[in-house]
Formats: sequence, C-alpha cells, structure tokens
Amino acid sequence: MKQNRLKSLSLKWRLLLTQGIILLPLLAATVAGFYLVNNVVMKDFKDVIHRYQDQVEPIRALQLAMLQVEIPLEEYLISGSLERMAEFRAARQEVEEKFSKLFVEFQTDPQLMPLLEGAQTQWNHIHPVVTDLLEAKELGESQRISAGLIRFDSLRGVAHDKLEAADRLITDIVDADLRDATLALERTEWIAAIALIVCLFLAAFGIYLFIKTIVDSIDRLIEGVERFAQGDRNHQIDIAVPPELSKVAGEFNQMIAIIRSSEERLEQQARTDKLTGLLNRIPYDEILSDAFQRFTRYNEGSALLALDIDHFKSINDTYGHDAGDEVLRKVAQILRGQTRSVDKAFRIGGEEFAIYLPQCDEAATRNTGERVRQAVEAMKVVVNEHTVKVTISVGYALTRASTDTPDKLKKAADQALYKAKEDGRNRVVGFDIS
Ligand code: GH3
Ligand code: MG
Ligand code: MG
Repeated sequence: MKQNRLKSLSLKWRLLLTQGIILLPLLAATVAGFYLVNNVVMKDFKDVIHRYQDQVEPIRALQLAMLQVEIPLEEYLISGSLERMAEFRAARQEVEEKFSKLFVEFQTDPQLMPLLEGAQTQWNHIHPVVTDLLEAKELGESQRISAGLIRFDSLRGVAHDKLEAADRLITDIVDADLRDATLALERTEWIAAIALIVCLFLAAFGIYLFIKTIVDSIDRLIEGVERFAQGDRNHQIDIAVPPELSKVAGEFNQMIAIIRSSEERLEQQARTDKLTGLLNRIPYDEILSDAFQRFTRYNEGSALLALDIDHFKSINDTYGHDAGDEVLRKVAQILRGQTRSVDKAFRIGGEEFAIYLPQCDEAATRNTGERVRQAVEAMKVVVNEHTVKVTISVGYALTRASTDTPDKLKKAADQALYKAKEDGRNRVVGFDIS
C-alpha cells in the first residue's frame, strides 16, 4: 500500500522530495548550528566579556583609586597645599562613586556583595581617621599624623584585600565560564562534523533516489526510442516510476505494437497473391533456398510440383477475363485442399502454380500431383450457365544430387511439366533423373 503510494508519486512531487532530502537537512543543520553557537557557545563568551568589563576592571580601578587618595593627602599633610587638599577630596569622591557603581553591579550576586560591603565598611572607617589627621595637621602634631597615616594605610589595605578576594572570585568564575565555553565550542564542532556527515549522506541518498527514479527511467526511455529507431520491434520499455514516464513508456509500447502489427500485415500482403490468397514468388524463392540448406545439411529429401492450367488463354478468350480469374481462384482452392498442412502452395505466374512438399518420396509426390489433377478435372466452374472444363498439367522433381540447387530443381520440374504438355496435357509427369 505504502509502496504503491510511493510509486504513484508524480514527477513534481518526486523532484520536491529528492530536493527536500538534499536541502532540508542542510537547512536544519544551519539553523541548529546558528542556535548552538549563538545561545550556548557565545553566551559563555559574552558572560566572560561582561565580567571583565563590568566587574574585574571596575574593582581594579577602585583599588587604584583608593591608592591614589593617599598621595595628595600625604602631600597636603607635609606642604599644607590647598591644591593637594582639593585633589584629595576629588580622589575620595571618585572612590565613593566607584563603590556605588559596583554596588549596583553586584546587588544580585550573593557571593560578591558581602565582600564589597566588607571593603566599603573598611573604607568608611577611614573617614574619622582623615578627620583626625586634618585636626593633627592644624595643631602641628607630627606624631599624631604619623600614627594616623599608619592607621589610614592599614584600613585601606584591608579594603584593598576584600576587593582582591572579590577579584579572585570573579576570576575563578570567568575561568569556569571559559572552560564551559571551550567545551561547548568543542561539542559544537563535533555536532557540526556529525551534522555535515549526515547531510552529505542524505544528499547522496537524495541524488541516488533522483538518479534511480528519474534519470534511470529517462535513460530507459531514450534507449527504447533508439532501439525502435534502429529497427528493433520486440523491445518493450519497462518503466515503473514516475507515473508520467511510465505512461509515456506505456503509450510508446502500444505504438510499437501497432506499428509492428501493421508492418507484419504489410509484409504478409507483400508475400501473398491478391487474387488467389496463395503465397507468391517471394516466399517461394525463400522456401526453396531454405529447403536446399536442409537438403545439403541433413540430406532431407523434398519435392516440387509445377502446375499449369491447360489452354487457359482460350478460357479467357471464350468466357472472359473474369471467368479466367474465377478459374484461378478455384484451382487455388483445390491446391490448398489437396495438400498437407506442411506443404506449401504458390501462384508463381499468370496461370502457373507450384507446390512444395517437404520430406516426400516419389510415390507420394506423384500421388499428390495426381490428386490435384483429378480434383481440377472434376471441378465445375459455371459461367453464364456454361460449365467451363478445366484441366492442368503437372510436372514434378525431387531433390537429388543432380538437382542440388533451387534453380536446378525448378528447371527439372518445369521440364517435366513441359513433357506433360507435350504428351497431351492433363497429366502428371515426373522428371526423369536418368
Ligand atoms: P498451355 O496449355 O500451353 O499452357 O496454354 P495456355 O493458353 O494455358 O498458355 P499461355 O501461356 O499461352 O496463356 C496463358 C494465359 O493466361 C495468357 C494470359 O492472358 C492469361 N493470364 C495470365 N494471368 C492472368 C490472370 O491473372 N487472370 C486471367 N484471367 N488470365 C490471366
Ligand atoms: Mg503457362
Ligand atoms: Mg497454361
């Protein structure tokens, strides 16, 4: 059932199916590959980039900014320069801003947030230390300044370490992401390689199917047409699929059958005498040459009778040409009726006939000749209430060493016929081999 449905698939659907088998897997592999690269491989790489840009770099910038706060403060404490003081305030402001930005970035991260909060707490402890340092500067208490600076440095160092821990944590995450991304990339490469092999296999299958069902059928059709053109009338074009080509092949086979039968009919007509329906000279010559091949190869004896209507001209002259034709038809009927099915009767000229008798000895040959002669003599042809009397003369010859060619056999039979005429007609005479 399923196979039948497949067989009845039209050329259009067959083309679509084979092209689909070739193209669809390629399309699916491309879409799947695009999805994998974009959503799996690139997702990890994008995450790595994001973490570097929005987390690692700001943390390192914050660490640097915290370091840069200390320099203008120390210089102010030494020189009392208001310019340095302004620089210190700006640097401190920058540190605050960088903290705020990182809080926004880390707010959803439960691992990073406590580290950032710890760093900020340490940084906030710096504010009273700075107030104390500025006061000590006003009062010129250098020992207090030294102690304050040591405290400042230690708090900044602790804040720096907390940020360092966050930095390491992110680096670990990034490393894991990179490993995942590399793995996903490798996996994608494998999938792409397998998909490519599958696609190539399916494409080859699609092409095979196309060649098998369409190209093969077209080739068979062309071969059939060429063989027909070369004269082969027995070749049948066998095409099962697709239905369109199968139909063309069917019509073509039918056309060949019609041409063959009309050629056979024409050939049959060309070998038949129109008036009597007997075989004519063409098969006569063929059969005799065939008989001599058998004679030389197997020494198979056969005989030839030459028959001629006596005084046929006067029948024509007395009763008319149509009456003559009727006599010819009747004689032909007798020839057919008095011979075996293996014998062959011919009309080889106007009122001349011949009978070929395969595997026949002299007595049987003479008998046949006699039977035909008597039947013709007894035959009644009535024309315009007149009964036309018809007789024939018969000469015969057998295949012998002396008559070992068709021409010699024909000549021998003719000589016997001539003798029958000479001896008074209406008789059977055998060729004298002596
Ligand atoms: P014989 O006994 O010696 O054979 O004499 P014949 O008159 O039979 O022989 P001849 O060869 O003189 O005459 C043959 C005649 O047969 C001459 C020709 O007009 C006639 N004939 C040949 N073909 C046809 C035909 O198809 N129809 C008719 N009606 N007559 C034909
Ligand atoms: Mg004659
Ligand atoms: Mg005659």
